[in-house]
Amino acid sequence: MVNPTLFHCHDYKHLIRRWRKVARAAGLKMTAFAQAGGYEVFRLTSRQSPEGGVYLSAGIHGDEPAATEALVSWAEANPEILRNLPCILFPCLNPWGLANNSRNDEQARDLNRTFQHDHVPHIQALKAFIKPHRFRLALNLHEDYDGQGLYLYELERRTPFWGEDLVEIARPLIPIEGRTTIDNRRASKAGLLRRKIDLRKFPTLPEAVYLHLHHAERTFTFETPSEFALDQRVRVQVALIDECIRRILEA
Ligand SMILES: [Zn+2]
Repeated sequence: MVNPTLFHCHDYKHLIRRWRKVARAAGLKMTAFAQAGGYEVFRLTSRQSPEGGVYLSAGIHGDEPAATEALVSWAEANPEILRNLPCILFPCLNPWGLANNSRNDEQARDLNRTFQHDHVPHIQALKAFIKPHRFRLALNLHEDYDGQGLYLYELERRTPFWGEDLVEIARPLIPIEGRTTIDNRRASKAGLLRRKIDLRKFPTLPEAVYLHLHHAERTFTFETPSEFALDQRVRVQVALIDECIRRILEA
C-alpha cells in the first residue's frame, strides 16, 4: 500500500506540522529562525548543545522531495534516539522551492551555491547559528534527476571511510548508480564519490563543502534518482541515515 503521507511531499505546511509532532515527541526545540520566499524556515535543536553531535539537513533543492520526506520519516521513527542525541536539524532549507517543485529559490538562486557569501539571509543565519559548533557527522540529503541509481559523496577526512559500507546498505533497496562519471567527477567505485576538497574547484560553496571545511568530521551527501518511485527513494535515504546515526551512537 502506498503511504498516504507521500502524496503531501510538496506540502510545506504539512511537513512543518509533522516536525512539530517530532519536536514534541523527541523533546527538540523547534525555532523559525528566518523567512525565505514568504515562508518561515525552521531548525530543530536538541535541548543539550549540539556540540559534538550531528547536523542533518534536507530540502535546499525544492525539487528533491524524497530528501525532506526521508528526514521527517526517519525522525518520526526515532524520537528516543533524537531525545538523547546532540543535534541540529534543518527540515527544509528551501520551502518556496519545495512548494513550487523548484531546485532554486524564488529569486532563481541555487541556495546550495551560496555558502561562500552572506547575501542570502537565512543561509547567513544558519551559518551564524552553527558557527561555534563542531559536529561528528553532517548529512545532506539530495536527489538527482539524471540519476540512474543511488550514489553518495563522502568528503575525505576521517578514516576508516564509511562510503563503501553505505553503498552496500543501499544496494538491496535500490539500484546503485552505474555511471562512473558524475558531474565531471570520477566515481571511486559504483555509487561512491569520495573527494578531497580542492577549493580551486569550488568558486561557489555547497553546504556540504562548507560543513566539511568548518564544522564536520564526516560529511556525506546522499543522492537518490528522482525518476524512481518516491517511497523507494525515501526508504533508502532513511536506511542510510539510520546506519550513520547507529555508527555515531556506537563509537
Ligand atoms: Zn540537490
